Amino acid sequence: MSEAAVAAAVKCAYPGCDGDAGAARGAGHCGKCLRPLRICGDCGAANQSLALFCRRCAKEVKYSGFGAAALGPDVLAGAFSRSPKVTLFGQTFACAPAVFGGFVWALSSTGELWRFTPASTLDPKGGRVASQCSLGAGFGDSPMALGHFPGRGGVRVPLVLAISEGAIKAWNLVTGESPYIVAESGAGRFWASMSAKDDERYVGVVCHGARVFALYSGKEEGVALFSAGTEGGNTWRGEIGKGPIAGPLVIDDRVCCYSQDTVYWEDEGTVKSQKLGAGIVRLIVSPREAPGFQRPAGAFPWVLAPRGAYLPAQSDGRYGLAWVRFSNGRPVCQVIRLEPDSSYSQAADGRLLVCKRGCLMLYEDGGGAPQFDDQQMSPSGVEFFDDPLYLYLASVAGGKVLRASVGRSFSRDEQIPRARGAVTMVRCANAGGAFVLPFFDAGLDIGVATWLL
Ligand SMILES: [Zn+2]
Ligand SMILES: [Zn+2]
Repeated sequence: MSEAAVAAAVKCAYPGCDGDAGAARGAGHCGKCLRPLRICGDCGAANQSLALFCRRCAKEVKYSGFGAAALGPDVLAGAFSRSPKVTLFGQTFACAPAVFGGFVWALSSTGELWRFTPASTLDPKGGRVASQCSLGAGFGDSPMALGHFPGRGGVRVPLVLAISEGAIKAWNLVTGESPYIVAESGAGRFWASMSAKDDERYVGVVCHGARVFALYSGKEEGVALFSAGTEGGNTWRGEIGKGPIAGPLVIDDRVCCYSQDTVYWEDEGTVKSQKLGAGIVRLIVSPREAPGFQRPAGAFPWVLAPRGAYLPAQSDGRYGLAWVRFSNGRPVCQVIRLEPDSSYSQAADGRLLVCKRGCLMLYEDGGGAPQFDDQQMSPSGVEFFDDPLYLYLASVAGGKVLRASVGRSFSRDEQIPRARGAVTMVRCANAGGAFVLPFFDAGLDIGVATWLL
């Protein structure tokens, strides 16, 4: 490699910026333009945050995400001591946005994909919402899948996958090419909507390895687990049967779906099933059968952990979460009951976060322990935990406020939720020079509260 190329790789990876990437190593973003960077663990080069392979040494670069712990308490307390900037997308959304590669992505109810760049001092799109592509009508009623998946040519690229009744489509997040069809439903249809106007089941599309999975109904048959290669073609269908089914989701490296009493999973081209202990637990397949059960807004109701998944469930007339994992090749289940006034979400490290009045609990492998208490803490389903940063709603004399706590030494209340009407927060994340908190406003628009670091 030439000296010029080596010099270029320690500079910021975005065109038009000559920021020193060395300063970005501990923070995950360029200190000059604030855009998110991926720092190569092997050679130290700075790469654009959506790149998977290093531009200098060509090795795969892990995107660490640079959570709150990496930033340090002083940086966090500094950021959260200021009021956030609030940006609204100005569209209507049924599904929650996702934070990926340092950007906020959202698929609107009209099938249009939007991107929010949280912070940039040089990029004219910084701090702005921009339309990326249109997938068409029918997309946007169930969560999209975002990740580095094998695209055309089999190479892993940053892709969004989304589903409608008629098709599964993919779009490369960086090349700007038109979206392409991964699979079409033909005479049948895909289960693609979690919207109240349809049958309201927890359904959507997932990617596992080089394949996409969805639920499918033909004209005559019952529900089937469907899959296709992420490049398109090579389709497969495995019959599940009649009755309400939710999924698919990946539990411990297996593609699964479930009915009220049975877990199904794909195993080398066949569908296997296992009934759960009758009467002990009933899995919740659709929101209709569980009025009052609060899942994280606009998202799948399950929480995926490294060795299993927490599925919404009822047990002895109470709502809870069933911790489902595989043991000796078969699913086993254990129920965590939720107190009536409680909510759940996922912590930044993947663990299950349960908020009951006054206390945040963290669960790992089905077992929970209290993590943080605050008598004013009020369960809302949007609690965020990334040690030492806690975000949650607190009940104070004037109503509810968003409280940011950095360990026990700093806390600050913000009025954002009230200023924007009935707001449901989605997930907080560090996204290149900023902390972002996407939320739904009362009109089902999406907004992002941004705290610059
Ligand atoms: Zn830069
Ligand atoms: Zn490298």
